[in-house]
Amino acid sequence: MNNMFQVCAKCGTPAITLNKEAVEDKTGKELNLSDKEKIYTCPNPSCEIAYFTKELTFKSEDLFVPLFYKDKSDNVPICYCSNLTRGEIKNAVKNGSKTIDDVQVFTGKNMTGNCKIKNPVGQCCRNAFLYEIEQALGQKPSGFDFKPCSCCS
Ligand SMILES: [Zn+2]
Repeated sequence: MNNMFQVCAKCGTPAITLNKEAVEDKTGKELNLSDKEKIYTCPNPSCEIAYFTKELTFKSEDLFVPLFYKDKSDNVPICYCSNLTRGEIKNAVKNGSKTIDDVQVFTGKNMTGNCKIKNPVGQCCRNAFLYEIEQALGQKPSGFDFKPCSCCS
């Protein structure tokens, strides 16, 4: 049996598996994991557990940068490759941006492609980016439904 299902030890929320490099970049710690050992994030916004393995736990306060799905404030990056924040997306939308392209042109922050390391879940920010735009346009209720992207995994 190879049961991949894992829950957060603190809050019981089903955890999401991620790559080691993304976690090392956010924690500044080199992780020595065996081949079978996985690293997880707890997607629950109100839980302080950011990353965990069988032996290690990192809280949100242990990270260099806030996690977009834990911290609701405006200075949190949504696109980590170009350090494009939620506040900048809101401002771009207020000024007429309606798409990811619009926001990138408006802010001049269009660096991408380093998601495997820079993004805290090691995947591209597209889902979160679209969610923030829709929220700023008033099209989405609050509460990001965390789904790993399918475009670059
Ligand atoms: Zn949790």
